[in-house]
Amino acid sequence: MTKEDEIPDWVGAQEFYDKYDPKEILGRGVSSVVRRCVDKRTSQEYAVKIIDITPSDKMTPQEIEEIRQATVKEIDILKKVCGQDNIIQLKDCYESKAFFFLVFDLMKRGELFDYLTEKVTLSEKETRKIMRALLEVVQFLHSQNIVHRDLKPENILLDDQMNIKLTDFGFSVQIQPGQKLNEVCGTPGYLAPEIIECSMDPNHKGYNTAVDIWSSGVIMYTLLAGSPPFWHRKQMLMLRMILAGKYDYSSPEWDDRSDTVKDLISRMLVVDPKQRYNASDALNHPFFSQYVVAEVRQFSPYRRFKVICMTVLATMRIYCNYRRAKPVTKEVIKSDPYAVKPIRKLIDACAFKIYGHWVKKGQTQNRAALFENTPKAILLSIAAEADESPLHTW
Ligand code: ADP
Ligand code: MG
Repeated sequence: MTKEDEIPDWVGAQEFYDKYDPKEILGRGVSSVVRRCVDKRTSQEYAVKIIDITPSDKMTPQEIEEIRQATVKEIDILKKVCGQDNIIQLKDCYESKAFFFLVFDLMKRGELFDYLTEKVTLSEKETRKIMRALLEVVQFLHSQNIVHRDLKPENILLDDQMNIKLTDFGFSVQIQPGQKLNEVCGTPGYLAPEIIECSMDPNHKGYNTAVDIWSSGVIMYTLLAGSPPFWHRKQMLMLRMILAGKYDYSSPEWDDRSDTVKDLISRMLVVDPKQRYNASDALNHPFFSQYVVAEVRQFSPYRRFKVICMTVLATMRIYCNYRRAKPVTKEVIKSDPYAVKPIRKLIDACAFKIYGHWVKKGQTQNRAALFENTPKAILLSIAAEADESPLHTW
């Protein structure tokens, strides 16, 4: 008998349960569940990702072995990236024959996805802060030849100060300089065109770190628009949109957005990965320098005067509107509740709470589904269905 055989299967699990008290579920993945947990000695809170590799009817031994190997790889990458400010810190990890326990710092504010669902869209200023941090992480990962491959708002967590922490390195891989990848993985709406091409062409030359920039572009667009750039109820049509790089800024959310921000997005969502910006190019884009300049800018006496005039005018307008405003009676609420702004906001917020939950569940559904129930969208989807070509044409 080797020394390894003498160690009981449950030792890792026992060590975890000796040290921590697992609490409620924070999130779930395909083969993992993330729970809050408390260090019994210090009462410090953490999050534990429990990965189930128990032999069962649901999974073949080969699938279980694949999950085991993928988890070992995930831990390896998490250790390599440890110390970067905007990456989640792995505090502890335990392995038994049936489970892995990965203990992380607890991010009480949860996912960027949920924050966006609550806020609907973010301002350019807030987007700038998030995207700067995200692109700095991506720049750091790429400098180590690490490709994340699953960048999306669900894998970006927020700490107490609203700083982002990138998590879920389950699909991440470290490549050799110049090495290309062919494996198809990621989340449909965030897939770069070259990954989809790999799924269609076994002789494809492969993809590299540029796929993370594409996903970052999709995230940036989604933060500002509240819905993703590429989405169709039929996944096949969505993939075609990605392959063609077909997206636009036609929704009303874009009306007040700057040309600078649109320019940056359009340089990240470039179909040809060689023409696409890399992380450093993106960070050097005027969109990121603008804010710093604006913040330290001193107002000239003329500008100060203009701001004072505008403030006085705005105050007068608000006051006049207030005087003119109709009283909110029971009848108004009954006949047209949407006309009353606070009620409209409440209805929208409730809808997001309900649908946000539902939207997140299906792989083929997402935030865009929230914006689908307009007559125009229904007509468009019927039209799209009518001229949908058979699968073999792409
Ligand atoms: P999977 O690989 O299964 O997607 P993740 O690592 O992405 O697992 O975790 C799943 C979800 O659990 C996340 O999207 C998030 O909601 C929650 N979660 C993960 N880590 C933490 C953490 N450190 N703090 C708070 N919530 C977390
Ligand atoms: Mg995840």
